[in-house]
Amino acid sequence: MKIQKIKNRGILFTHDDLDWDLNIYLIKGRKNNYVIDTGLGSLSIDHIKRYIEDDNRKTIVINTHYHWDHVWGNGSFKDCMIISHKLCRDMILSKWENMMNKNNNYCFGKVEMYLPNLVFQNELYFTEDKIRLFHTPGHTLDSISILDEEDKVLVLADNIGDNMNEIVPSIYCEKEVYIRTLEKYQNMDFDICISGHNKVLQKNVIGEILDIL
Ligand SMILES: [Zn+2]
Repeated sequence: MKIQKIKNRGILFTHDDLDWDLNIYLIKGRKNNYVIDTGLGSLSIDHIKRYIEDDNRKTIVINTHYHWDHVWGNGSFKDCMIISHKLCRDMILSKWENMMNKNNNYCFGKVEMYLPNLVFQNELYFTEDKIRLFHTPGHTLDSISILDEEDKVLVLADNIGDNMNEIVPSIYCEKEVYIRTLEKYQNMDFDICISGHNKVLQKNVIGEILDIL
């Protein structure tokens, strides 16, 4: 597990011993800690839990989309608020078995279905921490992004491809919908992008993707 400090209050945890890198991002807000995605199971999350165990801030968990490699560790946070898009909750429910069957060799520790317990449609804003969650369909229909307005860091999960040779992600919705999401990103104030699998990137990657499309 690689751990990188990002700006003032972000910590990026990366599993770098798999076929692909897997990122989990922690924002240490004034009021809450925000854990973005839960990886492949309890062992993906243990590091992060230990990292914040002596901290008196509340832990808020966010699922960026329903895919297995982003929600399998949810069971480690049963006493927390777990937030996602409404569709994400529906899709975890309907696709769980299929995702388990196809990818069970990637389970890392204990994996159990634990659904998001707070869902939203368009946007949710944590005023004291200046953390904005908003719907950004593209990679999947339920994808959301998280803007840390104080650090000017955008967490856009799998709306960017998995590595530097593939910055365009797989898109499971209309291409136009994804382009609208990218245009929305371009109008926002941030300079660093954190994704689900890629390296830490600068804002200009959004324009690069639009050029390719
Ligand atoms: Zn995905």
